Amino acid sequence: MLNRKVIMAIADGLGDRPHTLLGDKTPLEYARTPNLDHLASEGITGMMDLIAPGIPVGTDMGHLILFGYQPHHYPGRGPIEALGIGMEVKPGDIVFRCNFATVDENGIVVDRRAGRIRKKTEEIAQAINGIELEDGVVAYFKPATEHRAVLILRGAGLSDKISDSDPKAPNDGKPYHLVEPLDSSEEAERTAFLLNLYLKKAHEILSAHPVNVERVEAGNLPANFILTRGAGRMVDIEPVAEKLKINVSCIAGESTVLGAAELAGYKILTSNSMTGNIDTNIELKARLAIEEIANNDIVYVHMKAPDVKGHDNEPLEKAKSIELFDHMVGLIRQQLPENVYLALAADHSTPCEVGEHTGEPVPVVISGPSIRRDRVLQYNELDCAYGGLGHLTGGDFVRILHDFMGLVKKQGN
Ligand code: ZN
Repeated sequence: MLNRKVIMAIADGLGDRPHTLLGDKTPLEYARTPNLDHLASEGITGMMDLIAPGIPVGTDMGHLILFGYQPHHYPGRGPIEALGIGMEVKPGDIVFRCNFATVDENGIVVDRRAGRIRKKTEEIAQAINGIELEDGVVAYFKPATEHRAVLILRGAGLSDKISDSDPKAPNDGKPYHLVEPLDSSEEAERTAFLLNLYLKKAHEILSAHPVNVERVEAGNLPANFILTRGAGRMVDIEPVAEKLKINVSCIAGESTVLGAAELAGYKILTSNSMTGNIDTNIELKARLAIEEIANNDIVYVHMKAPDVKGHDNEPLEKAKSIELFDHMVGLIRQQLPENVYLALAADHSTPCEVGEHTGEPVPVVISGPSIRRDRVLQYNELDCAYGGLGHLTGGDFVRILHDFMGLVKKQGN
């Protein structure tokens, strides 16, 4: 059998629209991308809708699909965030995304982000982690970046059908919400009760914590409350790596992408120098991609910056971030073993004029051994629409790569 492998380079939020600041070109058309164009000219190209035409997807959903899952496998944002910051998540766990916040003595939210606290969150989180509530239900709490954190309730008979304690922006100056059941089940009622109990305990512990006492003395807002949102129940889902019996590595700086990779059973490679922005360490990413493909079947290498610049409505900066992506792909291409396909993809479009994800398709390329080359010479949203892969879904794209690797079972006899 042919021993074929895949490296997929993912430019987050790459797809865009023509922009007046770029002479009515898309950032990808405008950017100088000799390496991406070379791959398009020697490979097969197409346009991909992650789920279906016109459906915007989040980074979490987009990556789950690129990692080999179907949309209905989506476990919710909370479980993915938790996995991404290295928490253990078990089937049945109820997972919440949280903020450290500041409330006053009347339960009024003074600041939803506790003065955008950045320091010593590990210390205060430790004080409210591993608290046993009632009937064996335990609360696990871990900080993420800045004021963000994740809470897990673990135990029997819990439900994710409960409301948020977070009043959401722009509601500073209003009280936090008491958590309420969202259906009439006993589980939802019990979970809401236990979460309210936890939030009260956490408030007492945090208010007296030395880090917060110090913050108040220094004139900073104390992180004395936890606002919860987006309850999600962890599903019992088979990791893609186990199902397909393959070894896969994922190289990324962003916790959402790392969480989705963890769910899929992929090996995770990250570093502080992979920043999730334009200053990310592309040399390291490229070097790891080449090292990892030696002992793995698939390697994913991710870059976040194009999405960030799309959200910031910065077409010139987005073009610059794409040139960086081109440079990273060039470094990989130079050392690519002969039996490895190099695929280019994105998880969704983030047009600069919108500043949010939209449902427009993204261009894709597969180049490598014995590929049915098409006549497209450049990698962008307009040229790739003429490509040999045509218009396909994210699931189709991944299956085509798996088929090239000999992983897809023949139908019939
Ligand atoms: Zn985004």
